[in-house]
Amino acid sequence: MGLDDNLVYHADILIFGIILIFTLASLPRAYARLSRRSEWSQGHFLRSITPLPATKPRFNPKHTPLAPVEPESFVDLDHGNSSTACAPLPSEYKNSLTHVVNEKALPKHPNQGPTVSSIWHQVAFVLRYRVHENYSVNQVLLILAYIIIIFYVSFYQSDPFTDPHRAGFVIASQIPFVYALATKNNIIGMMVGVGYEKLNFLHRLVGKLMVIGANVHFIGYVYKWSLAGDIYSKLAEDYVRWGIVALVCLDILGFCSTEYVRSKSYNLFITSHVVSLIIFLFAACYHEPTCVPYVITACVFYILDHVVRAIKTRITTAKLQSLPELGITRVEVPSINAGWRAGQHVRLRVLSSSMGWWGWSEVHPFTIANVAETSEGMVLMCKKTGHWTSSLFGMAQTASYGESGKEFGRDVKVMVEGPYGGVGHTVMSSYSGAMFAVGGSGISFALSAVPDLIQAATGVKVIDIIWSVQDPSSLTPLLPLLTNLVQNSSTRVNVHVYYTRAISTSFHRMYLPQGITILPGRPKLGKLLDQAMTNAISAGGSDGVFVGVCGPISLANSMARVVRYSDVRLCTAVGGVKLHEETFGW
Ligand SMILES: Cc1cc2nc3c(=O)[nH]c(=O)nc-3n(C[C@H](O)[C@H](O)[C@H](O)COP(=O)(O)OP(=O)(O)OC[C@H]3O[C@@H](n4cnc5c(N)ncnc54)[C@H](O)[C@@H]3O)c2cc1C
Repeated sequence: MGLDDNLVYHADILIFGIILIFTLASLPRAYARLSRRSEWSQGHFLRSITPLPATKPRFNPKHTPLAPVEPESFVDLDHGNSSTACAPLPSEYKNSLTHVVNEKALPKHPNQGPTVSSIWHQVAFVLRYRVHENYSVNQVLLILAYIIIIFYVSFYQSDPFTDPHRAGFVIASQIPFVYALATKNNIIGMMVGVGYEKLNFLHRLVGKLMVIGANVHFIGYVYKWSLAGDIYSKLAEDYVRWGIVALVCLDILGFCSTEYVRSKSYNLFITSHVVSLIIFLFAACYHEPTCVPYVITACVFYILDHVVRAIKTRITTAKLQSLPELGITRVEVPSINAGWRAGQHVRLRVLSSSMGWWGWSEVHPFTIANVAETSEGMVLMCKKTGHWTSSLFGMAQTASYGESGKEFGRDVKVMVEGPYGGVGHTVMSSYSGAMFAVGGSGISFALSAVPDLIQAATGVKVIDIIWSVQDPSSLTPLLPLLTNLVQNSSTRVNVHVYYTRAISTSFHRMYLPQGITILPGRPKLGKLLDQAMTNAISAGGSDGVFVGVCGPISLANSMARVVRYSDVRLCTAVGGVKLHEETFGW
C-alpha cells in the first residue's frame, strides 16, 4: 500500500471511529428507549390499524379540530386583558403545587464548589451555544475535526501543485460518506440516534470539500502537464475526459446546492443533484479504477435507501381543508393511523394536475401534527410559504360542501413517505415537565407530542405550549383541539398564545377556556422556562424538563440562548433541561 492509499484508508477508519464514539455515547439513551417494547414498532413504517385499540383513556380526541367548543371564560382583547388562569391541577398535585417554588427545596448557590450536574449543565450549554446563526458549538467542533482530518491527509508530505494525485485519493475516500450522509434512511443517523436532517450539515461539508478537492486535483494536473508541454495529448486521453466529466458533475452539484439556487429554484437543486450524483459515480470509476470500491459502497447506501424509501411509501387519498386564519392547509390521511412517533415528519407528494405542471414531481417535508392511533388518521399542517404550498392551499379552498353547509374537504391522491426524523432516542415521557415553544405551523410538533405524553401517562406532570402566531385569529381553528388538551387530560396542560399583529374585528371578545391564555407581543421564553421548571419541581418532578422548539431558525436560536442562560439552581433542582429543535429550513 502506498502513502496515498495508506493515509486515506486511515482517515476513513478515523472518521468511522468518531462515528462509533457517538454511537457508543448514544447507547444508554438507545437502551432506555428500546427497553420499552412499544418503542420497537413505532417510528419506522406508516400503517393502518383496524380496529383501533381502545386503550387511550387519558386523552380522548372527541373534538375534531373544527368542532365547536364550550366557553368557560373570555378574553376582551379590546382592552388588552387576557384570561391568565392556569388549567386546574389534577387532584394528586393540588397539594404540592405552590406556583412559587419552595426555596428550601432548591440547592444553595454553588458557593461550596460546582456539582457534577452543574458542570455538565454548563458543558452541555456551551456545546449548544450558537456560534453562527445555524451552527452550535458541537456542530462547529465536528466541522473543524472533519476539516482537520481532510487537510492532514491532503497535505501530509504532499504539495497540491507537485502532487495533485493526493487530492484525487482524498476525494475518492469521501465518496461513501457524502452519499451515506445524503440518504433519508441514513445509516450514520441510525447509529448515532438522530434523523437524516440533523446530519445534513455534514453532508454539505463533505460535499464542499470534495468540490474543492476535485478542482485542486484538476488544476494541479493542468499546471503539471502545461510545464511538461503535453497538456493536449493528456486532455485527449479517455481517463482524463472521464475525470473532467466527474469534475463538472461535482461543480454542478456545488453550484446548484448554494443557498441562492435552492431558494430561487428548489427543483433545479433537486434535479441537478439526482442527475449529477449518478453520472459522477460512473465517471469516477472510468477515470480511476481505484474509485470502484468506494463507488460500490456509495451505491449500496444509495440503493438501500431507495429500497427502504419505496417500502416506506404509501399512495393513498387525503382530504384537504384550508384554515384561512392560519394560512395553513390541513391534510388528513384517514387510511394511515399508526407507525409514527411524536415529532417525526413525512415527505408529501400530491398527485394532482391542480398542483401545476411540475407540482406532482415535488416532495415536501411536513411534521405529523397529531398522535398515532386515532380515528382521524394522520394529519399534516402545511403553511402557505411558497409556490407549492400556495397551490396546495388553493386546491384546499376549492373543497366541497355538504347540504348542511359543512365543509367536506377536497379528496386528492397523495404519496406519503416516512416517517423520518423526530426526537431520536429521547423518550419525552421520561421527563417531569415538557415545554413546547412553537411558531406558526410548528404547532404540528406540539399537537403530536402533547397527546402522546398525556396518553403515556408517565412522569410528565406539567406541559406548557407556547405558540407564537402573527394573527390572534390563528387560534380560532385550533381552539377546540387545544381546549380538549387542557380540559380532558389528567396531566396539567397550559397553552400560551402570543400574537404580533393587530386584532381583527372577528376576534373581539373571544371566549377562552381555563388554561389557555393569549397575549400580545413575543413570548418571554426565559420567564416561561423558569415557570415550567418551577411548576415541574413544585409538582414533585426531578427528572428534568423536555424543551421542544419547532418553527423558524430564529425561534430555535432564541430558545437555545434561553436554555443556555437558564437558572442553574432551578435547572439542577429539576434534573436538567433537554432541548430538542425542529427547524423548517435546511
Ligand atoms: C423536517 C421538516 C419539517 C417541516 N415541517 C413543516 C410543517 O409541519 N409545516 C409546515 O408548514 N412546514 C414545514 N416544513 C417546511 C416546509 O417543508 C416548506 O415550507 C415547504 O417545503 C416550502 O415549499 P414551497 O415550495 O411552498 O416554498 P418555497 O418558497 O418554494 O420554498 C421555501 C423554502 O422551503 C424550502 N423547501 C422548498 N421545497 C422543499 C422541499 N421539497 N424539501 C425541503 N425544503 C424545501 C427551501 O429552503 C425553500 O427555500 C418542514 C421542513 C422540514 C425540513
